[in-house]
Formats: sequence, C-alpha cells, structure tokens
Amino acid sequence: MSGPSRNDERRFSITKWSLWKQPRSLVRYFLTVEATVLGLSVVFLVNAEVEPREWWEFAALSVLAVLQAEASRRIEKARRLITRAIHGNMTSVWTFAGVIVLPPILTGVLITVIYGHLWLRVQRKLGTRPEHRVVFSAAIIILSAYASAGVLAVGTFLQRMNGWPPAVALPIIVIIAALIFIVVNYLLAAMAAVMHGRSGHIIVAGAEFALEIATLCLGALAALALDNVPYLIVLILPPLLVLHRAVLVKQLEELAITDQKTGLLNATAWHEAARNELSRAARQSSGFGVLMVDLDYFKRVNDTYGHLAGDEVLKAIARMLKEELRDYDSPGRFGGEEFAVLIPDSKPTDVVTTAERLRKRVTELEVLAQTENGETLIKNLSASIGVAIYPTSGTTLEQLMLTADSAVYTAKSNGRNQVVTLST
Ligand code: GH3
Ligand code: MG
Ligand code: MG
Repeated sequence: MSGPSRNDERRFSITKWSLWKQPRSLVRYFLTVEATVLGLSVVFLVNAEVEPREWWEFAALSVLAVLQAEASRRIEKARRLITRAIHGNMTSVWTFAGVIVLPPILTGVLITVIYGHLWLRVQRKLGTRPEHRVVFSAAIIILSAYASAGVLAVGTFLQRMNGWPPAVALPIIVIIAALIFIVVNYLLAAMAAVMHGRSGHIIVAGAEFALEIATLCLGALAALALDNVPYLIVLILPPLLVLHRAVLVKQLEELAITDQKTGLLNATAWHEAARNELSRAARQSSGFGVLMVDLDYFKRVNDTYGHLAGDEVLKAIARMLKEELRDYDSPGRFGGEEFAVLIPDSKPTDVVTTAERLRKRVTELEVLAQTENGETLIKNLSASIGVAIYPTSGTTLEQLMLTADSAVYTAKSNGRNQVVTLST
C-alpha cells in the first residue's frame, strides 16, 4: 500500500479540481445544488434536537450501510467491469430509513458517511467517477432526502390535525414520501444530464425504477424495525444482497445473448429464438421465414477505409435492421458480416417483400465513419440475401439454414445485390 502520491496531492489542490473542467453552466448548477444542501443543513443543524435513541439509530444505519457496501464490493466490481451503464447503488435503503426515523440533519450526515465510504473503498480505485460527480451525487441524494422528509413532516402533521386513522394514513404518507424521493433525485440528475448534452442518458429503464422502488420498500421496513424491534433490522441485509446480485445476473443474461459489436442477438440466442419459432409454427401449422444477409465485397470496405470504419458499417446495418423490422422479428449477427433475420408467423410473399425492402435499404445506407484521412461517407453498399421459408424450404432448422445459405451463394454467383429464395 502506498500513501497519498504526488499525483493525489496535486489533484487535491483546489485549482486542479475536475469540477472546473466542466462547462460553466454545469459548474453553476452543481454549486447551486451543493450550496442549497449546505444552507438547508445549517438550518437543520441549528434547530436540531437529537434524542439519544436517534444517535443509536444513526449509528446502526451507518454501520449497516458500510457492511452492505463491503459485502457487495465484489458484485459491484463485476458489474462495473461488464457494463458502463449508470445504475443505482441501493444505498437508498439506509437513506430512506434515515428519512423516516432520523432528524434531517442526521440523515444528511448519514448520506455523507455512505458516499464518503463508497468513494474511499470503491470509486477512488476504479477511477471511473471524478470527485465532483461523487459530491454532486451525494448532494442530490441529500436534497431528495430533505424533500422526502418534508413530505413526511407535513403528512404526519395533517394526519394528526385531521385525526385521520394512522393505519391508513401513515402508509400512504410513506409511499408519497418515497415517490418524492425518487422524483426529486431523478429530476436533479436529469437536469445535469441535459446540461451536459447527454439527454440520451436520462431515459431510465423500467427495471431500474422497479429496483429503486424495491430498495425503498426495504428502507421503509428497516425504519419500522428500528422503531419497534431494532435488532430485527439485520434481516434487511440478506434480501438486499440477493437483490444486488439479481441485478448482476440480469446484466450477465443480457450479455450472454447479445452480440457486443452491434447489440443484435448473438448466434446462440438467435438459434434459440429460431428453434422456438419452429416448434410454434409446427404446432399451429403456420409459416415463418429465415433470411441470411451477407454484405457484398465487404473486404473492400475494410481494405479501403480500415477495420474500424468497417465496424461502423456493421453497426449501421444493425441499426437499419432494427428500424426496418417489426418488434417480433429477430435480427441476429453470426459473426463477421453475416446477419440472420427470423421473420415469425408470416406468409412467403411477406417474407420475400421484407427481404427485398432490406436489400434496398442497404443500398441506400450512408455511413459516416472516421478514417485515417478524417471523416468519410461510405455508400454504395449492397447485400446478398438468401431466403428460406418454413415449411417449403425445409422442416428442420438445419435444413432451413442450409437452404438460406445456398440461396446466398446463388445470389453471389448471379451478381450480388439481390434476394434469392430457394425451396426444396
Ligand atoms: P462477398 O461476400 O461479396 O463475396 O465478399 P466479401 O468481401 O464480403 O467476402 P467475405 O464474406 O469472404 O469476407 C468477409 C470479410 O468481412 C472478411 C473480414 O475482413 C471482414 N470482417 C469479418 N468480421 C468483421 C468485423 O467484425 N469487422 C470488420 N470491420 N470486418 C469484418
Ligand atoms: Mg461472409
Ligand atoms: Mg460478404
């Protein structure tokens, strides 16, 4: 182990902060959010009356949060190796429990402890997050927690004033507080993404929301335990770690079925889809089509523009396939410049029409690629497409693939840039 290096010292000098390298508007936004957090925290600190019990609850939540982070370090590392996608870190279990049982200032300190520990133990070594991002993430979580605590305070006040039955009112108030937590956090993060010109990053997958909601549910249960049977709170840890692992498994599943270069199905997954369609079609006596798409003279693209430009063309073809096909058609990449398309539940004429449309779209493609001589527009591409149709071209997947393959071969020898359908 080494102490702080000269490099670290330089990084910590205020003029060298990664924050100043950001666009001006973003810096202003970060500082505004952080100043708001500081201002509110001072107000809460001045007015704080912390009971001994709350100190214990604060200590318990801090210790558990650190334990969770330590226990899940391996999972988290694996997750970061396989994906660069932004993801929640599930610390909101403790944060939200804090929102419910602690005075706001202690929740703020709790979040600072959690993020400080995460940075020291995980992010600093991976070097994936600049410090200003860590500070900003912690700041927006604190602000979300304050907003959520405000909703709780107002809600419980109204409940007492109006004599609403607690058994009904309190759960509803907690749910609203949880939603406010998620929404404020999302909006503050989205604003930064928009200013950064990365609005594409703010579309949050449904699965990610579900995960955040599950995490907050556990947080509410943790608060319930703390207020009633405190030591039962350790029961939150096992489901939390399983939840954490489930996210990793989901990402591994996705990794296992996709082709990394194009994001299409890989060969294994495509075959699986085709086998399923085959048994469905056999059961229902319906038909489906298999297309094999092989780019023409692709070696020339590589030779002329370089391998990286070739890759750009492959990605453009993949995007075109996704755009042009129906949701339930499955395009896949068989490695190299060969694509396979499964067209379920279709009549032979529709399959051939689709193949013809794809062929035409390839010829219309214009791909902007980076080459040694700067940006180049690659066009005049074409593909040879072999079509096989169930059941006329074959009744097993092997027969269908062989037929589609020889159809491609025929298309190539007939001069390329054409669709050939073979039936046996
Ligand atoms: P044709 O199919 O019309 O007969 O000619 P072709 O030039 O496309 O011939 P072939 O299918 O034999 O060659 C495929 C070429 O695709 C060979 C290889 O350099 C290139 N290739 C295969 N995989 C990749 C890849 O992942 N990226 C890039 N850039 N090129 C690839
Ligand atoms: Mg080929
Ligand atoms: Mg080829």
